[in-house]
Amino acid sequence: MTAKTYPASLPGKADHIPVLRAVSIKSLARSFGFSACGIAKADAVEESIARRYRRWLENGEEASMSYMANYLEKRLDPRLLVPGVRSIVSLALNYAPSQLLPKGEYQFAAYALGKDYHDLMKERMRQLAGKIKELHPLLPFLPRKEAHATFPPSQQGILPIRRQAMPASSAEDPSQTSRPCTASSPPAPQREPGWGCFCDTAPVLERYWAQKAGLGWVGRNHQLIIPHAGSMFFLGEIFLPFEVDVYDESMPDRCGKCHRCVDACPTRAIVPGEDFHASRCLSYQLIENRGELSEEAKAAMGDTIYGCDRCQTACPWNRFATPSTEPELQPKPELLSMSKEKWHRLTVEDYRRLFKGSAVKRAKFDGLKRNIQAKEQ
Ligand code: SF4
Ligand code: SF4
Repeated sequence: MTAKTYPASLPGKADHIPVLRAVSIKSLARSFGFSACGIAKADAVEESIARRYRRWLENGEEASMSYMANYLEKRLDPRLLVPGVRSIVSLALNYAPSQLLPKGEYQFAAYALGKDYHDLMKERMRQLAGKIKELHPLLPFLPRKEAHATFPPSQQGILPIRRQAMPASSAEDPSQTSRPCTASSPPAPQREPGWGCFCDTAPVLERYWAQKAGLGWVGRNHQLIIPHAGSMFFLGEIFLPFEVDVYDESMPDRCGKCHRCVDACPTRAIVPGEDFHASRCLSYQLIENRGELSEEAKAAMGDTIYGCDRCQTACPWNRFATPSTEPELQPKPELLSMSKEKWHRLTVEDYRRLFKGSAVKRAKFDGLKRNIQAKEQ
């Protein structure tokens, strides 16, 4: 029996480049519990966005997050980050909390209540990538010229949001900038050109690509807003070395005249018409900043000792958010039982036990302790 071979493009025959069915990829994404999925053609980032990003760096708005300036050319053109990529599958996983920490006690940004989203997203995306790869020998590839006649546009949009399940700022690990998908079960693309799975750990403009892939738009609060679902979603991308039959259309901005997030921001990090002032943002101050908290942050943090959700909870689109039922995103009972008194006595051992496998590790013990001590003063 002859082994099925991986379809290959024919040099010089652009019309014979294999094309995957977008609807099949989206159906698989749904089966893995992703709330939304869209697909964009891999291309250089639009010049207006690239210009704004360069200006943001030139103005030093990244503060101490110097990694934001790394791999700039790759960040602004995913084809340089992953040679051979043709399509970017953008995925969203709902993390709207189903259980909050008790009122009156110290609070954490919702995305950090459960398991570290990097681990969760990457494992799931690697498995999904493996399944997408499995499609190859089974799905007839469509010649590119037939593609658009095959599926009606209604089947191509984002997935309906499931009735259940927010993002994060975190550092990018340069060692992962071009790490390919590595799932072993089901078989995943192993170190093959054009493949990649990324979630907040590589120089990828995730919200830009989510908007390009039709998931939502980047709101005035700089979050990706999914219509009728809100902004509490982890974002990730699978890079594919294939084209798809129908690409999603970029979603236009739907913030209109709303300014609720601007009004809700206690530190003036969001100023209409200005670039995002990261160094003023409580998420930066309480997580990324390794030095002293700014006086403004101390005055504005309230009872929140990790991150900030105010510009999200103020957004009217988050009225549509539905609580996540992902078991791994639920807070541990021990976290739920923490009182201010216990936080003030927090030891390294407590910290390690409470935040094992959690994104809160990003701030490190010293950072969290600094935030708690700011409340004691
Ligand atoms: S996270 Fe908080 S401090 Fe940062 S922009 Fe939003 S409201 Fe402002
Ligand atoms: S609060 Fe209003 S302006 Fe801000 S992101 Fe939401 S819709 Fe846009």
